Amino acid sequence: FKVPAPVNEPVLNYAPGSPERKALKSAIEAARSATADIPMFIGRKEIHTEDKQEIRPPHDHQHVLGHYSKGDESHVQAAIEAALAAKPAWEDLAWEQRAAIFLKAADLLAGPYRARINAATMLGQSKNAYQAEIDAACEMIDFLRFNVSYMSEIYAQQPGSAKGIWNRTEQRALEGFVFALTPFNFTAIAGNLPTAPAMMGNVVVWKPANTQIFAAHVLMEVFREAGLPGGVINLIYTDGPVAGEVIFSHREFAGIHFTGSTAVFQQIWKEIGNHIGNYRSYPRIVGETGGKDFVLVHPSASINMTSTALVRGAFEYQGQKCSAASRAYIPKSLWPELKKRLLEDISSLRMGGVEDFRNFINAVIDEKSFDKITSYINRVKNDPQAEIIAGGDHDKSTGYFISPTIIQTTDPMYVTMCDELFGPVLTVYVYEDEDFRSIPRLIDSTSIYALTGAVIARDRYAIEWLEKELRHSAGNFYINDKPTGAVVGQQPFGGSRGSGTNDKAGSMVNLLRWVSTRSIKETF
Ligand code: GLU
Repeated sequence: FKVPAPVNEPVLNYAPGSPERKALKSAIEAARSATADIPMFIGRKEIHTEDKQEIRPPHDHQHVLGHYSKGDESHVQAAIEAALAAKPAWEDLAWEQRAAIFLKAADLLAGPYRARINAATMLGQSKNAYQAEIDAACEMIDFLRFNVSYMSEIYAQQPGSAKGIWNRTEQRALEGFVFALTPFNFTAIAGNLPTAPAMMGNVVVWKPANTQIFAAHVLMEVFREAGLPGGVINLIYTDGPVAGEVIFSHREFAGIHFTGSTAVFQQIWKEIGNHIGNYRSYPRIVGETGGKDFVLVHPSASINMTSTALVRGAFEYQGQKCSAASRAYIPKSLWPELKKRLLEDISSLRMGGVEDFRNFINAVIDEKSFDKITSYINRVKNDPQAEIIAGGDHDKSTGYFISPTIIQTTDPMYVTMCDELFGPVLTVYVYEDEDFRSIPRLIDSTSIYALTGAVIARDRYAIEWLEKELRHSAGNFYINDKPTGAVVGQQPFGGSRGSGTNDKAGSMVNLLRWVSTRSIKETF
């Protein structure tokens, strides 16, 4: 069978007067005026509990969008049981049948659910319309369609045979269940982490970040409407450690698909290590974690291109992308003109709620994140080694707003050059032009991460040299572009070192982690 050739879902532009804008505005209105009552999904059932937790838009925290039903250990246990019960039928289903369900889900998202999933992502995660469109609509659709195509290639690969011998490769689903632990910052990642293993015949327990439940439950509705059998993906809302406790001590735990912080991932790895003798098989551990992504500007760089890469790379979605540009190395010769240009570009960015489509900057995800980011900003205010040259203001009275902030430091190892802040803060270190050749080593010694990075240069020799010198410094390396916005099917995404296991999201490499190969030899 040949599956439909995947093509990236076109990004709609939501221009005033466009039908997509009208549909999105009414979906936002509908979501804002209703009070959602969001259940977990375990097996075939919607599960409501007494423990109702409020969901509020981060940019408007006085408004209640609805409630979700929080679960406890018994729900984690029930989700595992439902997954294991669904397993035999699911893994026996012909892969084409599984593929059809995910292709249908992609079409539902591209059509009837597009406005709803975007509206839920905008309100629940404080994402502007464009950022929601490239995430919850396009990237999610692309993950589904491209993964189906990679899956078909995986099943088509067969070994050679010889006279009187027929060798076959069987890509078996893992024994047991997979745990998907998903982040708030991308609805597409939240949806990809459970669907990629499910596509390969696995059954899944999915626990999204609490701050992403408002959109996660819409995805789950889409999967169900597309025909996903009950129990294949079970969506639960518990505290992370509560889920972890039950899951990592379970004999049938087969693997984790994770995106989140480095600290949590390392903790999970240790817990898995503590139980390693109890599992049926060695669990697959697949994770994308932190980043401290760099932009290295060469003296030959275009000022225009550099300013755009920095402003978009650092401040889109308030810098809450693992890939966000958060430290920049700028040559002294370019700095006066670039600084002027950056300040101009930043001054045109409007900040506010997602309901007004002119706002580029919205709120950061929650109070904890706001407090962390602003504590770094406040620290700079009293520090002689660093200076805030743009932004620095913040206000949480109505929403968690932090204006796009640029810090300039004289110390290349300054705390905001090293720590991941996950917010709209860019730190700039201005280097002497003649020190250029020492910057790649400085980039490496400053951070444990290696997720994304960008170099901006016109000089071909510099580009070639940097590509070599920074070989291990980023899993996604950009030349003359911002370090964010990887597109499924074009730039498979992931990093190594402290940034994760680099099992590229949306790739054959990733899907292969969710199968266990059996070699079959038959002689005649
Ligand atoms: N794939 C996203 C990008 O390229 C980042 C994913 C993340 O933040 O985890 O910008």
